Amino acid sequence: MDTYTPIQDIDQKIDIIDHVNQDHTEELLAIAKSHLSQTKSPHETNIRSASVLDIFQEGIDISVHLKTTPQNTKIFVPFEIEGELEDKILYQAYASIIQQGRDFSGVGKRFFKIIDKQKITTNIVRLTIESTTELPTYYPGYAYAFLLKTLKKRPLPATPESNKKHWSKKLFDRVFISLMKYLSSKNRQKLLQSANKDVRLYTLRKSWKKNKNDRFHNQGYIDIFTHGETLGSQWANELNTDDIIMSRSEAKDKHPHLSNGQALLIADETAYPAMAGILEHWQNPLPPHIIIISESEDEQCYFEDKDQLAAGQIHRIICPPENQATEILAIVKQITDIDVVWAAFESESAKAVRHYLRNHRKIAGKNNHTKAYWNLKSKRGTVEDL
Ligand SMILES: Cc1cc2nc3c(=O)[nH]c(=O)nc-3n(C[C@H](O)[C@H](O)[C@H](O)COP(=O)(O)OP(=O)(O)OC[C@H]3O[C@@H](n4cnc5c(N)ncnc54)[C@H](O)[C@@H]3O)c2cc1C
Repeated sequence: MDTYTPIQDIDQKIDIIDHVNQDHTEELLAIAKSHLSQTKSPHETNIRSASVLDIFQEGIDISVHLKTTPQNTKIFVPFEIEGELEDKILYQAYASIIQQGRDFSGVGKRFFKIIDKQKITTNIVRLTIESTTELPTYYPGYAYAFLLKTLKKRPLPATPESNKKHWSKKLFDRVFISLMKYLSSKNRQKLLQSANKDVRLYTLRKSWKKNKNDRFHNQGYIDIFTHGETLGSQWANELNTDDIIMSRSEAKDKHPHLSNGQALLIADETAYPAMAGILEHWQNPLPPHIIIISESEDEQCYFEDKDQLAAGQIHRIICPPENQATEILAIVKQITDIDVVWAAFESESAKAVRHYLRNHRKIAGKNNHTKAYWNLKSKRGTVEDL
């Protein structure tokens, strides 16, 4: 049996395993399918599900559930590039998706018309949007990667033909992949950052049907926390009714782990829309512990409605972003019972809280969804998620 080099930083390794298993099952399936297509007959590449078991310097152990066999099979997928652990996995996912002739960005572009715009707190702008294509009915945490552009006229509706990849896009994808392969880790980060320079993630706060007889949910809210002269804030502030905006890709968030046990929910201003959605769909008979963080007290009225808070035990924190971890941990340490967690706030603080919950409260990855929604240190949002 082959032996592989273990990863020294166990917390970093578990962060990556949990992140991929929680939020990147599509990409993981692509990696597993692409690997099996090179080594097995076609009927053995029919995969129902896949999850990461372990990561080594040389590659990943993936557990795959084939449609043809009842039991799971373990496969080892070797990395194709040198570099940081996250780069290796990212490259593997991108290359597998391209190899299968699919788009990086999942479903591709989507257009929305702004039909209303309001300020719902001092700094949170609410856009009411309308879409000619279907919005998800389960909206909690569903995020769109918006291009920071505004169009004045509605584009023609997408047809199956227009959704096919244009040759130039295919070429771009291939060049991008080969560049990723040969660049140093630092330059790879730069390339990814510049590819995502004008893209920001915002959550679908809610969706509904405009008219009772409409076939699908076609209207919704997007709530944007504006903070100074940043690109996302300027874009949100300058938008007007009737403008058309577009997203490049989208991703759902899953919460089955919250349906049982004592839950803890934590959100800063950027995650209020996701947490409000989760609370609207609350099924667990136990009310959650809820921590609501903001830099300024003005934003806290987003959660004024008592019904919205599922009768949970509410803790409010007002602090500068760099103090989020210290303030959150001071509260979390007082809560004796925590079984399951959903949380999203600043990246370094999220890392500290996630590690505390994992290492001191023994909450395993499948129950510990503590996410980074933005990054104080690198001066950029965490667009790598889509
Ligand atoms: C899955 C997901 C869903 C999200 N949903 C929402 C949402 O519904 N609403 C929403 O408002 N945001 C949401 N975000 C967060 C949003 O994408 C980031 O805050 C993004 O960085 C904002 O872009 P920007 O152009 O304003 O700032 P950037 O250009 O990314 O950064 C410029 C400067 O602003 C700072 N900065 C960035 N965000 C904040 C912040 N929140 N508070 C203080 N300083 C900040 C940075 O550190 C940097 O110094 C979501 C993020 C993810 C990953």
